[in-house]
Amino acid sequence: MQRPYNFSPGPSTLPIAVLERAALELLNWPDEDGKPCGMSVMEMSHRGSEFISIYRKAMANLRTLLAVPDHFKILFLQGGALLQNSVVPLNLCTSPESVVAFVRTGAWSGKSLIEASRYCLAKCAVNAEINGCFTSIPNPATWEIANDAEYVHICSNETIHGVEFHELPDLKKLGSKAELVVDCSSDIASGPMDWTRIGLAFAGAQKNLGIAGLTLVFVREDLLGRAQKICPEVMNYTIQSENESMLNTPPTYAIYMAGLVFEWLLSEGGLLAMQKKNKEKARLLYATIDNSSYYSNNVDSECRSLMNVPFYIQDKAKLEAFLHGATQHGLLGLKGHKSVGGLRASLFNAMTLAGTESLVAYLKWFELENAS
Ligand SMILES: *Cc1c(COP(=O)(O)O)cnc(C)c1O
Repeated sequence: MQRPYNFSPGPSTLPIAVLERAALELLNWPDEDGKPCGMSVMEMSHRGSEFISIYRKAMANLRTLLAVPDHFKILFLQGGALLQNSVVPLNLCTSPESVVAFVRTGAWSGKSLIEASRYCLAKCAVNAEINGCFTSIPNPATWEIANDAEYVHICSNETIHGVEFHELPDLKKLGSKAELVVDCSSDIASGPMDWTRIGLAFAGAQKNLGIAGLTLVFVREDLLGRAQKICPEVMNYTIQSENESMLNTPPTYAIYMAGLVFEWLLSEGGLLAMQKKNKEKARLLYATIDNSSYYSNNVDSECRSLMNVPFYIQDKAKLEAFLHGATQHGLLGLKGHKSVGGLRASLFNAMTLAGTESLVAYLKWFELENAS
């Protein structure tokens, strides 16, 4: 049976090889030597040798995959990326009066700013919103970063508005001493990451690296040890790092699934290979949109997202017909976010070129049938 192609923004499509392996191992997880252990991963103690081996292997593979330097700690936490909007200032700001600069390039960085303002003095360094739309990233040289800002928060890929940083800003070059904090929930592992520019990065796993329940945090060692007193213990990076993220029960199955995705990504050639494939898929879809007067995407070409492509059809009244037809053609999850309407196709690592070609063929067919 041919499975439909799922363009959902998250939780999102997973590699079929990962799902098949998880199914195979569901009832009786086999260890490294292939010896069945008699339990499902879901039933294991997180302190037992079986799960510890799953955990350590996932951690090591993630470090290899993303080329994370040794002076960064990797944490496997819970609460989703959204909780990090509170947890980052609680860990990095020494007091509620500490200043933090936010680069507002879409819905997610906007949310981060509002939430962080409970725990620090959150200032907007730049607001890219124009007439309710986000379609560009203002040149970092124009950002107004306060001199005393402890960190600058960016969202490397705005999942709703389809605006992506293809290069991280170099804050040192801008003359700022602030650290860079990156919410990379929707473009983590879509290509190599420049750790020399990053102080802290976080991401929910359910978009590009696995299933819901696991949140990844990468924090440079020298930023540990400054958490505010009210920071909850399970969200204290220093304490979690000292406890291998196992102060309490971690999301064991989500860690296992992410581990399978890390192995899959490595076997596919790693992040450079992924980036090449992602560029090809995005090029195909944007070209189809740009070459038609029936579909549109208004994001500046230099910051168009490779992962999430929001677009509109000329005739709004045909939206439901478009989505209905798409489902019949085996294309799922194309409805745009309710705050912006229209359509959105998410092209995460696990989306194949064949899936993207199938979407493009449907777009062309629908236009022929419906354009006036
Ligand atoms: C999905 C998303 C979030 C929220 O993630 P949760 O894990 O649901 O909390 C935050 N930031 C970005 C960029 C996202 O795409």
